Amino acid sequence: MHTFEFIRPTDPAAAIATAAQSKTAQQGADVRFMGGGTTLIDLMKLNVETPDRVLDINRLPFDKIEVMPDGGLRIGATVRNSDLAYHATVQKDYPVLSQAILQGASAQVRNMATVAGNLLQRTRCLYFRDTAMPCNKREPGSGCPAITGHNRTLAILGASEQCIATNPSDMCVAMAALEATIHIQGPKGTRAIAFGDFHLLPGNTPQHETVLEPGDLITHVTLPPPVHRSKQLYLKLRDRASYEFALASAAIVLTIAAGKITRARIALGGVGTKPWRSPEAETLLTGKPANDASFRQAAEAALRNARPQSENKFKIELAKRCLTYALRTATAS
Ligand SMILES: Cc1cc2nc3c(=O)[nH]c(=O)nc-3n(C[C@H](O)[C@H](O)[C@H](O)COP(=O)(O)OP(=O)(O)OC[C@H]3O[C@@H](n4cnc5c(N)ncnc54)[C@H](O)[C@@H]3O)c2cc1C
Ligand code: SF4
Repeated sequence: MHTFEFIRPTDPAAAIATAAQSKTAQQGADVRFMGGGTTLIDLMKLNVETPDRVLDINRLPFDKIEVMPDGGLRIGATVRNSDLAYHATVQKDYPVLSQAILQGASAQVRNMATVAGNLLQRTRCLYFRDTAMPCNKREPGSGCPAITGHNRTLAILGASEQCIATNPSDMCVAMAALEATIHIQGPKGTRAIAFGDFHLLPGNTPQHETVLEPGDLITHVTLPPPVHRSKQLYLKLRDRASYEFALASAAIVLTIAAGKITRARIALGGVGTKPWRSPEAETLLTGKPANDASFRQAAEAALRNARPQSENKFKIELAKRCLTYALRTATAS
């Protein structure tokens, strides 16, 4: 493993000033923040990530979950995934988020992993994780062997000719449906980014995964006030019952009045190059009766632009059934 300097700052400004010396915000950056380390250290052991300096941010004051005056929730960047999933307010008002987190990884990983680290976890594409292989995301311009190789688990929505890697996060799918906001402190000050604008499509620059710039530190995430009487569900389909990434998943936040859907927020996981919000499904569901016909039409709309690779055509129907079943289950009670 590459040797590196390990730094434990106690002041956010000092951490940001150090990280701002990096040429890029993420890939290849020589100064990196570390939350739980379950992505970063994992990739450093594989020599996929080789930072010279690692800034452990666990001493910074970002470990609180607080209900805000407007009723929304403020979640610190270093809050552990387990603490978030089991927080009483999250379980009561944002159950889709709790369910999504608890269906990811293992209890041990969730006890270490932080909210910000989960937002920035990297693809599980096997070529990305193997430095003997080319990969446009790891080494821009080197090629994408996944397009003609093993791509069963990779993306069917949002892919480009340069990269077809899936975003693997479960938590992010729920945050997309909950319309979270990501708060950043950087060398140029603070800013807030709507969840849907945070992750980037691969396009011609798959090495750029988010809008973060060098030195940008995620400080917290906010959720809007809970939607009164909403029906929420996270459904994850995968090759085995636990400790496995999604082949397809769906996060749903719905309100229904007099048998009709009055508001719908839908996001898909395991199928997109970023956590995949579906405005198509949301528009189709709004005003429709909460029945199987509406659910299937919404699923068809959500997957209309899907483009399969050689090994993952099955994901299109899988994702449609995932969304349809999730909608049926969420509205059954
Ligand atoms: C065996 C295994 C199975 C897994 N299964 C699943 C699964 O089923 N579903 C799922 O969703 N996930 C899964 N994961 C991934 C896991 O959720 C992530 O590894 C974890 O969420 C990353 O959080 P972390 O705090 O450890 O991140 P770190 O490794 O500390 O950091 C990850 C990235 O975020 C950056 N970073 C961290 N904090 C900040 C900050 N505040 N501001 C800016 N940048 C920051 C780091 O520089 C790094 O680039 C699995 C992981 C493992 C190891
Ligand atoms: S899909 Fe993306 S991450 Fe995977 S090999 Fe191609 S460029 Fe690399």
